[in-house]
Amino acid sequence: MTTELSDLEMQSNVHALTRQWSDVLSPKESSTGTYMPIDYPPLLDMLKEAIGSSTGKTQSGKSPDAERSLLNLQAFSLYEHIDGTTRAWLRDLSKMPAQADLKAAVNQLAGLLQALHASSQIKEQQYSHIVAQFGRWRSQIWEMFDPPSVKDLLGSCPNCGETAYVNLEGGKTPTLIAFYSKGLEPFAKCQRCGERWSGVAELLDLGVHLGATMDEETLREMGTI
Ligand SMILES: [Zn+2]
Repeated sequence: MTTELSDLEMQSNVHALTRQWSDVLSPKESSTGTYMPIDYPPLLDMLKEAIGSSTGKTQSGKSPDAERSLLNLQAFSLYEHIDGTTRAWLRDLSKMPAQADLKAAVNQLAGLLQALHASSQIKEQQYSHIVAQFGRWRSQIWEMFDPPSVKDLLGSCPNCGETAYVNLEGGKTPTLIAFYSKGLEPFAKCQRCGERWSGVAELLDLGVHLGATMDEETLREMGTI
């Protein structure tokens, strides 16, 4: 792998860990038959949220409490591992104090690595070793969550009044979609105006606005009832 490529990869991985990022769901993943771009919160925020999460999708038939505890524990260990490793490298490589916030510290480490590498103050092997961790953390966090599920919600957006959305491929879908994944707070969003409803209370309000179109099965799958 060339250095330039690994720099770009590092930027993309650090971005997904620390800032809002976008992905495009395939027609199968989106369960809407079309490609659908989705914005995700920073992965480190998702991980932190999963540590204390008591909501979210669980597999029916299993003990939901046991499954949630396992997810909480996995999230906690991974978060502690990333935090400890990031701070250990910052101590090794710099005299500057590490940022208190983990997302800021991860950005700090990435910036430091780039600067040291650009001025040949770090061995190539050590640089590649540390850079590879960002990608590993990104996939480890992502793998903890179920493949995301997206559902169309029929009805008009309470905010902009629209019912349909024309996506990038020119396909028409309902503008309101519900999004949920294990360990994350479920949310719905309007693809036209960007309005969002997250958490149980707001989703139930949206359900009331939509009437019968927000069905009980959807709410149950989203872990809201
Ligand atoms: Zn809207």
